[in-house]
Amino acid sequence: MVSKNLWDQSRLQVDTKSTMDNRHRDTQPRDFEWEHSSCSWCEENQTEPLFKGPDRLLRLPGSFQVVRCSKCGLMRQNPRLKWDSLQHYYPDSYPSYVKRSGEKTSRISRSFNQYGMWKRLRAIERYQSSGLVLDVGCGTGNFLDQVRQSSQWDAAGVEPSLRANQISRERLPFPIFHGSLEAYHPDPGTFDVVTMWNVLEHLPHPVDDLRHIYRMMKPGGLLVISIPNLESPAAGLFKSSWLGWDLPRHLYFFPRNLLVDVLHTIGFRVIDFKCIAGSHAALGHTLDFWSQDRLEADQQLRKTMLNIYNSFPFQVLMSLPFWVLAQLRLSSNITLFARKVDESTNGDDAIETMV
Ligand SMILES: [Zn+2]
Repeated sequence: MVSKNLWDQSRLQVDTKSTMDNRHRDTQPRDFEWEHSSCSWCEENQTEPLFKGPDRLLRLPGSFQVVRCSKCGLMRQNPRLKWDSLQHYYPDSYPSYVKRSGEKTSRISRSFNQYGMWKRLRAIERYQSSGLVLDVGCGTGNFLDQVRQSSQWDAAGVEPSLRANQISRERLPFPIFHGSLEAYHPDPGTFDVVTMWNVLEHLPHPVDDLRHIYRMMKPGGLLVISIPNLESPAAGLFKSSWLGWDLPRHLYFFPRNLLVDVLHTIGFRVIDFKCIAGSHAALGHTLDFWSQDRLEADQQLRKTMLNIYNSFPFQVLMSLPFWVLAQLRLSSNITLFARKVDESTNGDDAIETMV
């Protein structure tokens, strides 16, 4: 379900086979079932169409429409594939279902991945240093593997993909629930920390799921949500080629302030934003998508451009601008930290940092 490895992987895989695949892009998949949805936040049906796009990551057939809610501004795919049909767009080769920390990946790739997971846990430990963590959409368990290495944490996971779930169970000592988040019912007030690393945008009912998560958290508990950053320059510059859309797997697109309003209404207080994941890989994917259309006739030029982008000197050159973007919270991916308001103290202790 999750796409976190798209943001974390160290190197972009250069694939110049898209000429053949592009012929199928506008062919709607046969026998797949579609549905219309109302807004997950305000339940409004009226929308404003924004754009249509293909599956740029896996290049599976179909064209998918993004709309904006006329009432609240939340963006979503509409119509969208029904859940069972959508699963065809999560094959075993989907990046999050490939065990990146496993033996088949290179040492450099494993190191980058582990560094990304370490940064995530370190960011959490600024606010919470121990307790029980739930990783929603834990994939093959890369983040929970990092959690396992710190004795002050215990953990659990939820992962609907059977293959990813099995890998998680094999490598981790934690309970990993196989199924959707809405089918998972721990006791109320169970978790100190809940993490959603690039998961919210994949959920068909994200606001209901946030309410569900609220109930399973302890008062004062920490909620950590990574989402594509609609406010990033990459989103504005590359428009429909931006990685953050990842159609048809991404179903909802939250403007940052709207997500803050949603969380506050449910009973959370947002205490911080950070950009902690994968700027280089994210822009690499975006450049790949952008060039699929524009450089289709010149695959050699496309390959050269992407190879230069991936080269070590260019990565070093870009590290400063990416660092500056992250400090300005303008990377392609952003992480929100929120506390469940402790009603016994009127929430006063939860407001640690003004956003
Ligand atoms: Zn709405």
